[in-house]
Amino acid sequence: MKKILLIATGGTIVSRMGKNGLVPQIRAEELLQYVPQCREFCEVTAMQLMNLDSTNMAPRDWEVIARSIREQYAQYDGFVICHGTDTLAFTAAVLSYMIQSSPKPIVLTGAQKPIDLEITDARTNLADSLLYASDPNSSGVVIVFDGKVIAGTRAKKMRTKSYNAFSSINYPSLAVIREGKILRYNESKEQGGPVFYEKLNSKVGVFKLIPGVPSDILDSYFRLFDAVVIESFGAGGIPDAPYYKFSDIIARWKDAGKILVMCTQVTNEGSDMGVYEVGKGAKSEFGFLETYDMTLEAAVTKLMWILSFTHDREQVKKLFYTQVNHDILYPAQ
Ligand code: ASP
Repeated sequence: MKKILLIATGGTIVSRMGKNGLVPQIRAEELLQYVPQCREFCEVTAMQLMNLDSTNMAPRDWEVIARSIREQYAQYDGFVICHGTDTLAFTAAVLSYMIQSSPKPIVLTGAQKPIDLEITDARTNLADSLLYASDPNSSGVVIVFDGKVIAGTRAKKMRTKSYNAFSSINYPSLAVIREGKILRYNESKEQGGPVFYEKLNSKVGVFKLIPGVPSDILDSYFRLFDAVVIESFGAGGIPDAPYYKFSDIIARWKDAGKILVMCTQVTNEGSDMGVYEVGKGAKSEFGFLETYDMTLEAAVTKLMWILSFTHDREQVKKLFYTQVNHDILYPAQ
């Protein structure tokens, strides 16, 4: 019988209606009453680590989650983390960097409806997650949600209400779960690890371009952050019409040692700064890294991980383009 640690962190899955809307309230042990069938294949220990609406999840909480998995790693065969859906993709990405090459599965799940409602996705998502975490062929950090198993670095919340809240971006789902059976599209099993990292550098900012945005705002970002991800349009470029002052600002902060990263606001197919003059010019002049097919969630949390132990530009570049938990295909291959 597999031993699974169920870690509750909050979210809709454990929420009840309060005076001002849904609030996380259902305790970790209570969750297990809703999935009694799982006793047939696993023995679950429930742990109440925090109880947040995941809107409040922050890097210090990610350090707490990673640390508690490290402390309990030897005692269990797999881990299931119940989490709010709003920032679940960020947490899955950051755990992919903080716990690398884990031969034991670390599954994140949540729900669009609380588990104590009559009609809810929560019971299926929790039962599927326990099933996946108990399977000997599972490994690494993944999200199990609405019958899909998505690599921890590839998920994005695409719907605020429907059960199929998450998509796997620029990469296929690893498996599907239908009526208690796991159908794997990717058979590879993580090995060599686990390698744990304890700290994050939260000084990573995301600056979203809109047409006509005042250039000075970018200056404030560079003041606050060690790395700034510019979320640009399409394949990726820096506006250079005469009324913009981005080039001067970026040149100044690059010389001050800040890390510059380009990503795109377009969900699918990723950045490619080499296509247009506004991208190619900026990349060669300022040494931008670009996210290519990585998600924003993965890029931001990967930078938090890398910048926790190095600021050396070449080292940052090498690690940023090194594949971790399926996060980047191009130019890593
Ligand atoms: N606001 C909730 C949260 O992220 C939404 C959810 O769990 O679905 O905690």
